[in-house]
Amino acid sequence: MAPSITKTQLSAPEPEHCPGPESENAGKGDACQGCPNQNVCESQLPQGPDPDIALINKRLSQIDHKLLVLSGKGGVGKSTFTSMLSWALAADEELEVGAMDLDICGPSLPRMLGAEGELIHQSNSGWSPVYVADNLGLMSISFMLPDPDSAIIWRGAKKNGLIKQFLKDVNWGDHLDYLVVDTPPGTSDEHLSVTTYMKEVGIDGALIVTTPQEVALLDVRKEIDFCRKANIRILGLVENMSGFVCPSCKGESQIFKPTTGGGKQLCQDLNIPYLGAVPLDPRIGRACDSGESFFDSYADSPAATAILDVVDGLRDQVELSLNKLNLDN
Ligand code: SF4
Repeated sequence: MAPSITKTQLSAPEPEHCPGPESENAGKGDACQGCPNQNVCESQLPQGPDPDIALINKRLSQIDHKLLVLSGKGGVGKSTFTSMLSWALAADEELEVGAMDLDICGPSLPRMLGAEGELIHQSNSGWSPVYVADNLGLMSISFMLPDPDSAIIWRGAKKNGLIKQFLKDVNWGDHLDYLVVDTPPGTSDEHLSVTTYMKEVGIDGALIVTTPQEVALLDVRKEIDFCRKANIRILGLVENMSGFVCPSCKGESQIFKPTTGGGKQLCQDLNIPYLGAVPLDPRIGRACDSGESFFDSYADSPAATAILDVVDGLRDQVELSLNKLNLDN
């Protein structure tokens, strides 16, 4: 196999939209045309399949269900929902759960799951996740940063390398029931990398998080299109921040008005499962800021009930998708 390319072998910095000198498209992408590095990238393309894929497959084959959490836009509460989903799954003591924070430029799961300031431990068997509960482990790039306020300014190739390493080297133990992967908003390098690297081992599907207003739904349509093009099953959509239920009087008001019918209508139009709506509750933000499970303190709140209903619906979709897969085989 040809050796991989090091920075010093490049005669110029990678241009914008570079597919990555170590990627399978090195030297062949649109950005490569006219790039001063094209010869070196082309000449050192590895021949044959990426050997790391076999290692990723081996590592992830011990995980029963792999879920991506996606959103079209930032600010719709995707990471908040991912943390809730992780806590909710881990509330079932029978389950082993992992959460992987692939929002490389804005990792927030460590804070929301109460693991801020922790460090990764490395051993012969790989990187150990940080355990925030007996059955809930977390891996995030923020565990590797010297300062939580450092900006991460990485090109696609470096992000790809880290995602590959997360998938290949994190030791989740002998068995995991669910791996919940938090991705950045939109469709970016991170999404392409994770879907490419996990293609063989299989992703159960994606949960899409949105808010009700059309400006958020516009980008959700693109996210759905991305999933369809990448052959990722959409397990369902959840409408977050859907109305505000006053914790005192229980009266409900619409803050982000669903001018075009909201998430429910979108699901009907595009034929994807609608998993439900979660009302705004300021106590969710407070629980996330202090890294505590919202369900521990406010188990009977309308928001907690709504989130648990969504999680039940999501688990049903995962089982449905598994049964369909078994029937197809
Ligand atoms: S991969 Fe393409 S764009 Fe990136 S450095 Fe190599 S030739 Fe240039």
